[in-house]
Amino acid sequence: MISLQENVLLAPYTTFKIGGPARRFVRVSTAQQLQEAFEWAKMKDVQTFLLGGGSNILVSDKGFDGLVIHLESTPPRREEFSLIAFAGTTLSSVVDMARDCSLEGMQNLSGIPGLVGGAVRGNAGAFGVEMKDVVFSVQALHGKTLEEKIFSNKECHFSYRTSVFKEEGWIVTEVLFKLRPGDKEKLAKIMEDVVAQRNAKHNQSALCAGSFFINPVVENEELRKEFEKETNASCREKKVPAGWLIDKMGLRGKKMGGAMVSEMHPNYIINTGDARAEDVVMLMSYIKQQVRDGLGVQLTQEVQLVGFD
Ligand SMILES: Cc1cc2nc3c(=O)[nH]c(=O)nc-3n(C[C@H](O)[C@H](O)[C@H](O)COP(=O)(O)OP(=O)(O)OC[C@H]3O[C@@H](n4cnc5c(N)ncnc54)[C@H](O)[C@@H]3O)c2cc1C
Repeated sequence: MISLQENVLLAPYTTFKIGGPARRFVRVSTAQQLQEAFEWAKMKDVQTFLLGGGSNILVSDKGFDGLVIHLESTPPRREEFSLIAFAGTTLSSVVDMARDCSLEGMQNLSGIPGLVGGAVRGNAGAFGVEMKDVVFSVQALHGKTLEEKIFSNKECHFSYRTSVFKEEGWIVTEVLFKLRPGDKEKLAKIMEDVVAQRNAKHNQSALCAGSFFINPVVENEELRKEFEKETNASCREKKVPAGWLIDKMGLRGKKMGGAMVSEMHPNYIINTGDARAEDVVMLMSYIKQQVRDGLGVQLTQEVQLVGFD
């Protein structure tokens, strides 16, 4: 049985801490409740938004004029070399459980905020490991037709920060992770190093949504060579970090209202405390325009914009 609330402020449910109210709001902690919420919205012809950990979204100042379905965290469970998690399970609890069960594969994902469903949808990853490397299968529900389906890893069509779930509007309900036997102490050490490296790169509790833009494919060979020469890193699949392009345009520290390009990591847009969604959107547009006009590269945001239409 689901219970609906009205006019719930969304800012506290996001890592940006920005955004107006949801007209209707419901918390779900099982696949059954998730289905019920979507059925209710379909019956009433109400627009839905599925909210996970809120770590990859920007909610508009006017909020969302529909039903926000918020996934609540439940612990993962173990079956031999597999871990099974509801979409609302925090990714960190799965990564921690893998370590505690001496299961290898997820250790580099340590420290990524958010929930399992959002991570699978966006093929979240870090330090060379993405969800595509650890997901065995995914149970999902179609957001419009409510059809249920189990996807094999191949059928998930994972690629850089996307998947079939994102492209075709499927809702992730449950995920089976297939891992390998490993050494608990070694895994714990790797996880500590990963978290330390993340903290050195950026304050992980800053009010932001992580990397704001997707790293774009850059066709201009000279620009790619310049990046490689300057950083001693190589471009994979012609991709250049969005942060390097933003920095090249001199935008590090650029501020609009309460929104600012991070000084530490120019692909992070930070809420300095009192930012409105409008400030972030103005800064986002300015960055895109500068990078397009100055370097001929079109940036696309990784962060999902909610309630802007
Ligand atoms: C400080 C910081 C560091 C970060 N570092 C990384 C990083 O290293 N690597 C990385 O990849 N990302 C990183 N991120 C971004 C973010 O943590 C990931 O994208 C995360 O997986 C998003 O999950 P979420 O539950 O917070 O999704 P939300 O922000 O709640 O939602 C994001 C999108 O996914 C949809 N969604 C949510 N749940 C489901 C579901 N069950 N089924 C279908 N769609 C769903 C939402 O509707 C929305 O469109 C970082 C963010 C922050 C704030």
